[in-house]
Formats: sequence, structure tokens, C-alpha cells
Amino acid sequence: MNESRYRGRFAPSPTGPLHFGSLVTAVASFLEARSHHGTWLVRIEDLDPLRESPEATRQILASLDAHGLHSDEPVRFQSERHTHYQKLIDQLLDQGRAYRCACSRKELREHGGRHPAHCRDGHANPGDQPFAVRFALHDEHSVWQDQLLGPQSQTVHAELDDPVILRKEGFYAYQLAVVADDIDQDITHVVRGSDLLDMTAQQQQIDRALGAHPPHWMHIPVILNEQGQKLSKQNHAPALDDALAQDNLEQALAALGQDMSRLSGAPDIDTLLERAAADWAPERIHLTAR
Ligand code: GLU
Repeated sequence: MNESRYRGRFAPSPTGPLHFGSLVTAVASFLEARSHHGTWLVRIEDLDPLRESPEATRQILASLDAHGLHSDEPVRFQSERHTHYQKLIDQLLDQGRAYRCACSRKELREHGGRHPAHCRDGHANPGDQPFAVRFALHDEHSVWQDQLLGPQSQTVHAELDDPVILRKEGFYAYQLAVVADDIDQDITHVVRGSDLLDMTAQQQQIDRALGAHPPHWMHIPVILNEQGQKLSKQNHAPALDDALAQDNLEQALAALGQDMSRLSGAPDIDTLLERAAADWAPERIHLTAR
């Protein structure tokens, strides 16, 4: 690979301030990019105004800056990208790779995941009812190489797994937006938490339907709290204290299994990150938690 072509990103959804689990993901994606002399971008995935807030966006960006994690290009906001997503949805609808669907979750459950209104065949006429748009998956047994977890295989089922790409409430959905922006920003490598591993086969199909090659993937174990749950805003992971940025970074590097002998007690954050990039050894990340 031409190393200067490496383009990575950290793409948080602003449902709350940055916590330790998201810092670990940010640090891993940053160091992967730096160690390949690549470009590292920050993208705010602010698609759902009911769950997300401008205040959380502000806090996340301030925290990343305080931790020396600066985007190499202007930060992208998905809330400013609606026209592009709509264009892609229209294109997928025209190509028959997406369909309108007014089925409720209950109806789908009662029909074992099949669409009682045969939405996939274009027979459903949502009329005045609110409808979602779903991507029409092909049945596929997808096999790929995760750069940390090794060979992966996943089966996706047409109809049963078809993801929503435009929600009934009118919001663009993660599954489309993440792929659309990874393509548009020319992302070559995705480093993210392994809680998103199950999304990958679907995202690869959306990539190909949009005429792109899927990026390389590296899924890192998610950080668990004492109850064994993923650290997340939903289970009230505490916000990082930006005044302790260097300590937080050291703890994140230790959680990523890195050799701390040259890293502990660096004179400042930038030196710490430079050394961490020079010594970066992703194979040291423990693979226990998933
Ligand atoms: N926005 C997603 C999240 O915060 C991550 C997207 C991705 O890395 O693919 O969970």
C-alpha cells in the first residue's frame, strides 16, 4: 500500500461527552493513521436530534483537542450532509436497491421479519402513512479480513436484515450515512469498536451498491465497566476530565496493551502521542473483550 494514501477517521455520535471508551477508540484510530503517515479525520455523526445535542458535539470536540487529537481536515458534520444522503437514497430507489416501507416493528415481528405489504417488490403504497426507506440486501455470505480480529465471516439475509436508511421520523440513518461519508471522504481504513462488527457485512454491500470498494477494517475490543457492560453514554460512563488529559491518554494506551516503558511520564501530550505512534503495536491489543 502507498502509505501516504492511508485515510482514517474517528466518527462519534454526539449523544454525550467523550468518555474513556470513546477515547480508547479515538486513540487507536489516530495512532493507526499516524503510524502509516496517513491522514486522520474527525466526523461528527449528528443524525438524530432527539438523542444528540450541539452541547455534546462541543464537548467532544473540546475534549479531543485537549487530548491532542486534532483532525487533519475541517471537522465534518453529518447534519450538514442531508442533500447528499437524499441523492443517494433516490439513486438506490431508482436502482431497485432500496424500497419504501410503512411496516411497523410489530407487523414485521409477527411475520418473522417478512414484509406483509411486500414492500420490497414495490407493491406497498404507503399513501399518507409515515414510511421508512430500507436498503434491499442480497443474500450473502461475506468473508473478509479484519486487521486485528483476523478472518471474519458473516451472513446477511435479504429482507430479514434489510437496514433502514431513512427513518420514519425523517432522519437519515447511520447505516447509510456512515458509508456515504466514508466513500466521500475517501476513507481507506476504519478503526472502530467491535460493537459495530456486526454492521460490517451490510455496510460492505451498501458500499458496493454505491459503486465503491469497502475500506479496510480494524475492530478493537470495547472497554467494559465493572458490571461487564460496554462503557457508553447509555449506561452513564463518566465524562473525561480534560484537565487530566495526559493521564487519560496514558490509561487509554495501557488499555490498548501498549508498552508503557517509554510512554509513562512523557514531558507533554504531543510528545506522548508522537512516541506512542512510533511504538504503536496494534497486535498488543488484548482480544478478550468483544
Ligand atoms: N457514529 C458511530 C458511533 O458513535 C461510529 C461509526 C463508525 O465508526 O463506524 O457509534
